This record gives sequence, C-alpha cells and structure tokens, in this order.
Amino acid sequence: MPLEPAITPAPTAPTVWTIKALLDWTTDFLAKKGPAPTAARLEAQILLAHVLKCKKVDLLVRYDEQPGEADRAAFRGLIKRRVDGWPVAYLVGSREFYLLPFEVSPAVLIPRPDTETLVTESLGVIKRMVAPTVLDLGTGSGCIAVCLAHHKKEARITAVDISPDALDVARGNAIRNGVADRITFLQGDLFGPVPAGAVFDVVVSNPPYVTPGELAELAPDVRDHEPRLALDGGTDGLAFYRRIASGVGAVLKPGGSLLVEIGSTQDEAVRAILSANPDLELGKTVRDSSGLPRVVSARKR
Ligand code: GLN
Repeated sequence: MPLEPAITPAPTAPTVWTIKALLDWTTDFLAKKGPAPTAARLEAQILLAHVLKCKKVDLLVRYDEQPGEADRAAFRGLIKRRVDGWPVAYLVGSREFYLLPFEVSPAVLIPRPDTETLVTESLGVIKRMVAPTVLDLGTGSGCIAVCLAHHKKEARITAVDISPDALDVARGNAIRNGVADRITFLQGDLFGPVPAGAVFDVVVSNPPYVTPGELAELAPDVRDHEPRLALDGGTDGLAFYRRIASGVGAVLKPGGSLLVEIGSTQDEAVRAILSANPDLELGKTVRDSSGLPRVVSARKR
C-alpha cells in the first residue's frame, strides 16, 4: 500500500515497509510535493529519526527493520504536515545551530545558517575580552546568546525579547546547553526592559528586517508559519536599525561594539543609518558563507 492512498502513489511503493523503503518512498514523494525538493532525503531522514527516537545515522544501520504501524502512522502524519507547508524544524521541535541543539516552536524564528556569521563575528570580538557583558536584542530562540555563552565561558549575557513565548523557548535552550546561569532574560521592547544605567561591552542583534513586499514573496513555510513579529522590519525593513542606532549609545561602554545581522540588500542603508549616530564609528561589513553582506559592526567612540 502506498503511504497516502489519497495522493498519487510513488512508482516504487513496496509491499514491505522497511526503513530503507520508507526513506526512499518519502524522498521521492517530498521531492515531488514538498517545497524544497533538494532537501527531500534529509527531511525524510530527520522526520523518520524523530518518530523512531533515534539519530539520523542510526537509520542507516537499521535499514532492514520494519517499523510498527503506530510509528508508520506518526510518520505519515508528519509527511502530510510537511507537504502542507510546515517547516521540518517545527515538526520535530528542534534545530541544530552552530553545532548546538536548539528547541524551536512557532513562537520563534528557526535559526538560520546565515546567523552563524553574526555569532562568529561576535565571538571574535568577545574572545579578546575579560568577562565581557553582552546585550542580545530580540533573542528569539536564544540561539545567539546561547552560542556566545557556550563559547566564551565567562561572558554574561542579557537577552531581551518582546515575546514571552519566545523567552520561554530561549530559557529552555539556555538550560539545555548548560549556560542558563550566565544569561539573564528580560521581556520587553528592544531597549525598554534594560535597567537604567546598565552598560555592556557588546550589543548584538538579529532584528526583524523583512519588508512587507518581501514577506509576501517568502517561501510559504516561512511566510505562513514563522512568527511575523520576528520578520517584519516595517515599511522599508529598516525600522529596527533606526531604533538600535538611536538607543545603542546609552547602553554601550566607550569602545564597546555593536554587531547587527542585515538582509543581503541592506548593507548601504544600514551603514548610513548607523553612521548618522556621531557616537558610532563604523566597522566592516562581513559576508556570510554564500558571499552576501550579512553583518555590520560599529564601535562606540
Ligand atoms: N533571514 C530571515 C529570512 O529571510 C529574516 C530574519 C530577520 O528578519 N531577522 O527569512
């Protein structure tokens, strides 16, 4: 029987559903129906490993096993939701970022490989410091804050988010990665909840930076399932950079650094916004692993 009789069966539908047969069939099916054909095999593996509560690599050595009907039904359910547009990371509730495990829910943006550039650049700055203090604006899943705390053992981080649900996820990720004792989570709008007079060595942010026009064009799994709050950067996508540029002077120590992630077309605009603040001396723009402008930095004079 094909997995999903209501939909066209793949030509290779076997009579015995071994792990290998399930993966082959699902890869074929997702490649035809899913939003990301190139990722079909990987997605099939991630979903099946999740159902069978094993690692992806274990599937290979268990190729000839035949999962029971309950597991197959659960797998079918996930494939259906995937084809309906649900991102794999939400279906399995986790995503790896900077080689660390993160829990994700629809309350938070799924950590992107692009954002690893911001982490690497920020680590380059704080690695040289003794017991640095860092402010992470719009922490979401907490992926930036947790990675910085993990790789710089004496760093102390304050992580802000307007969404209480996102902060619950971020707190869980700090605990899961053993860094909860060095991250303080604050709920509120950007600089709003930062205690008066508090100053930091470094401020980092991956703010929402997508324009309404780009939002409409995004892949359906992003557009229909990831939080608007984490994506919508206002009419021109630059609203948060303006607010960060005007507020950051008050929370940075002299000589302290600001590092922000940007959309790949926003380099010039963000540099212009930051350089309008006379307290800031602009640094370089760093490109991501695809060669696109991704991180802009500045130093407080
Ligand atoms: N890079 C994300 C995307 O294109 C946007 C992230 C953000 O707005 N900070 O989906």
